[in-house]
Amino acid sequence: MSHSTIKLLEPIVVNRIAAGEASLPRISCAAVIIRPSHVVKELIENAMDANSSQIDCVVKEGGIKLIQIKDNGDGIHQNDLIIACKSHTTSKLHELEDLKNMTTYGFRGEALASISHVSHVTLQSKTSDSICAYRAAYNNGQITSKAPHPCAGNKGTVVGVEDLFYNVPLKRKTLRTPREEYEQIVSVMREYAVHHHSISFTCKKLDSNTFDIKTTGKDLKGAILQLYGSFVFTSLLFIPKTTTEACCFETFVTNPSYGDAKSTKLLLFVNHRAVENRAMKKSIEKMYSQYIPQNMHPFVYISIDVSFLSQDKVIDTISTMIEEELAKWKDDTAKTTVN
Ligand code: ADP
Ligand code: MG
Repeated sequence: MSHSTIKLLEPIVVNRIAAGEASLPRISCAAVIIRPSHVVKELIENAMDANSSQIDCVVKEGGIKLIQIKDNGDGIHQNDLIIACKSHTTSKLHELEDLKNMTTYGFRGEALASISHVSHVTLQSKTSDSICAYRAAYNNGQITSKAPHPCAGNKGTVVGVEDLFYNVPLKRKTLRTPREEYEQIVSVMREYAVHHHSISFTCKKLDSNTFDIKTTGKDLKGAILQLYGSFVFTSLLFIPKTTTEACCFETFVTNPSYGDAKSTKLLLFVNHRAVENRAMKKSIEKMYSQYIPQNMHPFVYISIDVSFLSQDKVIDTISTMIEEELAKWKDDTAKTTVN
């Protein structure tokens, strides 16, 4: 597929998105940038929207000095580079009608704009119909170079985000240590690498020769093994795809023989977007507390497809299903020990 043109959204569409369209097939979230990992998430989603099969992330000082995400996707056309970081510019949605049929992660045209207000952004991109790549720098939503200038580069896009929150000292103060911020970035990338297992991901620190993440486009189970290790992998109960009135979901959970001493690892995807949800986490922890010791924690992967989110019902449905599997595992294990 070729790149598509970036346009400014009509005010009516912007307002409609802000008001929250109930029927959106994908959950829409404003690009809230509080930590470096939020930048990574937005940039990964853009790379995936551009049909990339390889996404490489390089980080310096926990993402505060530099986050660079390189992809091999459709690229951004030279002319579109001029307005790529402006608010409400997107290639994914033009008409009000399109809102009903969105299949991409973004469509509000806000992420690059938000990021360029709190950092120094550079974009380098090459589309398949261009003979060279083009590069430009941005600040506060505006291109700072006169025009994108030609340079050498492969098809795809390289986004550089430097000096995050250089102009927002308050936000800088709330950041954890570079080590913790980096761990959070790796954690977010691991989750995407599991869910989008057909895409190859790498992640490393700028000055390091070793990758902290390196996946090779395996199936879902293979990706979990690569990214979370054999203890998680060998303890997994695979619950087949289930469709109920509330939602359609797929979930893999560790059986009660597994326990992580640190914390519950919940990989929760709603309409293919990584989300955090306390209520879901609580429900799962409560259920597991009947099966595993208090100080131990499970690994849980849940992918939910919903068109209309009725949170309580969804959590209830999924928790019940997992609980059934855990009880069954306990029964089966008891039986084999007796025999
Ligand atoms: P949105 O994703 O909501 O459209 P963004 O601010 O994240 O808004 O991106 C603005 C536009 O820039 C996108 O619509 C897309 O056309 C282009 N873009 C951003 N990142 C990439 C990328 N990695 N590859 C190709 N195009 C990109
Ligand atoms: Mg986006």
